[in-house]
Amino acid sequence: MADVMDNTVSLCKRKGFIFQSSEIYGGLNGCWDYGPLGVELLRNIKETWWRAMTYREDIEGLDASILMHPRVWEASGHVDNFTDPLVDCRSCKARFREDLLSDEQRSAGQCPTCGNKEVLTEPRAFNLMFKTYVGPVEEDGSRVFMRPETAQGSYVNFLNVQTAMRHKLPFGVAQIGKAFRNEINTRNFLFRTREFEQMEMQYFVRPGTEDEWYEYWKEERWKWFATIGIPTRKLRWCEHEQLAHYARAAVDIEYEFPFGWGEIEGVHNRGDYDLTQHEKLSGKSLKYFDDASREKILPSVVETAMGASRACMVCLVDAYHEEEVEGEKRVVMRFHPRVAPLKAGIFPLVKRDGMPEVARKITADLRSHYPVFYDERGAIGRRYRRMDEVGTPFCITVDSQTLGDETVTVRERDSMAQDRVPIADLRDQISRRMEAWEMPLN
Ligand code: ATP
Repeated sequence: MADVMDNTVSLCKRKGFIFQSSEIYGGLNGCWDYGPLGVELLRNIKETWWRAMTYREDIEGLDASILMHPRVWEASGHVDNFTDPLVDCRSCKARFREDLLSDEQRSAGQCPTCGNKEVLTEPRAFNLMFKTYVGPVEEDGSRVFMRPETAQGSYVNFLNVQTAMRHKLPFGVAQIGKAFRNEINTRNFLFRTREFEQMEMQYFVRPGTEDEWYEYWKEERWKWFATIGIPTRKLRWCEHEQLAHYARAAVDIEYEFPFGWGEIEGVHNRGDYDLTQHEKLSGKSLKYFDDASREKILPSVVETAMGASRACMVCLVDAYHEEEVEGEKRVVMRFHPRVAPLKAGIFPLVKRDGMPEVARKITADLRSHYPVFYDERGAIGRRYRRMDEVGTPFCITVDSQTLGDETVTVRERDSMAQDRVPIADLRDQISRRMEAWEMPLN
């Protein structure tokens, strides 16, 4: 299983999905760059989420700034509570989360790396928020935080959105954006990084109805994973036993990664914790005026919170397949066409007899609708393999028959089956096949 992880990471680099940040300088821990194909994959995942979450009457989009007033993070509880217990080894200088040490290591003060005893410092609460300064003077008064979640931008804008869009309860605010956490130990590729992207939605509801909406959003979010091609048999629910300071109920959707089960998304019933706190610290009312009952209401919140980068990692590890075809190893990324970075590869069988011209014309036509790849180099079989390796669902080949009857072959990635399609029908056919694409979901 560990191989899947190593193979995926190496394919990601080789094929231009994910690069280590600042690689030529030795890299920067916990930061990754999305290459040409990775950025398409990530954008497609975010687009699928955005459509599902905001192309509906009751949810609006928002893009709040990363830097916010520092009191936001006092109100949210992050200044006091968003900490991990950090211990240092005085001998080898390694750093650990104290809560992850074994009882034995803790009582002996033993370092998990060098094994020496009585070398660990007392744990200190390490706040995971990155700090920076606004303006030219680095002093406490100008200190701000890089947001560790997008949610607070939605809470402080709750009344702005409600008033501007004239919403009644219930309604939601959805955001996609960067978040930063100074994790003590980063690990597992894109799973735990210091800079990442979130897709979060805050749903504001009448107090007393949050349990129903919590159930509703659990179901909606579970179903969504099928739209990016993730099989439900690889997902499970995990109820939180210990609740975060803001939560009344919380559940995670976990995916079975090669290294074990890990959270991808959380659904949280946050009650009115956040709006109450922001009212208290800002001194401003965040109550919604309900026309029908003529009363002022402080809504409760149900949140859905997911890492876009983690979802991207799920798509990558889930897509990775190796199989044997005619005695040779075939590596194929089985992305759902909706998230696949390239939708089609277009090849002239040979570089003469007018085939490249026809293939280039098809490329130009399809490219005005989605990303495609033109390739005339090497044997046709190798060109197919190159597209399989980056998960391109269709390969279109122009051959000598094309010149007579204006048809091309279309090869499907997973079955490798080919059929002939008139050039005039190509775009429609490919759209239809992408729409009807079936993934083994259970
Ligand atoms: P974890 O327990 O893994 O640290 P969390 O419970 O703190 O996560 P939330 O605060 O609920 O996570 O954040 C919502 C989502 O943001 C998570 O489900 C995850 O997908 C993503 N996320 C959180 N921290 C990271 C990180 N360091 N790197 C990448 N994604 C992250």
